[in-house]
Amino acid sequence: MGGKVLICDGCLVLHRDGEIAYCSEELDGKTCAGYDMPHLAGLMACRITPRGTRCRHCDEVMRIRLLMAPDFIPDELHTVSN
Ligand SMILES: [Zn+2]
Ligand SMILES: [Zn+2]
Repeated sequence: MGGKVLICDGCLVLHRDGEIAYCSEELDGKTCAGYDMPHLAGLMACRITPRGTRCRHCDEVMRIRLLMAPDFIPDELHTVSN
């Protein structure tokens, strides 16, 4: 064993829109093997991180999501002629 790290021990944290936020290893002061690498602990959504801190990026995504939610669209706009 040994040599190059081909997998990261941490878990990759994604924003709500799927963008990579950070790696859990970085929170622990370690170095991520690379965001492109497979992550042993898998993926985790930014909003359910143990730190529980609000993320400005996710807040922005949620704002857009709410605006674009189907329920929000009035009937007139919903029925598109096709
Ligand atoms: Zn986020
Ligand atoms: Zn990592």
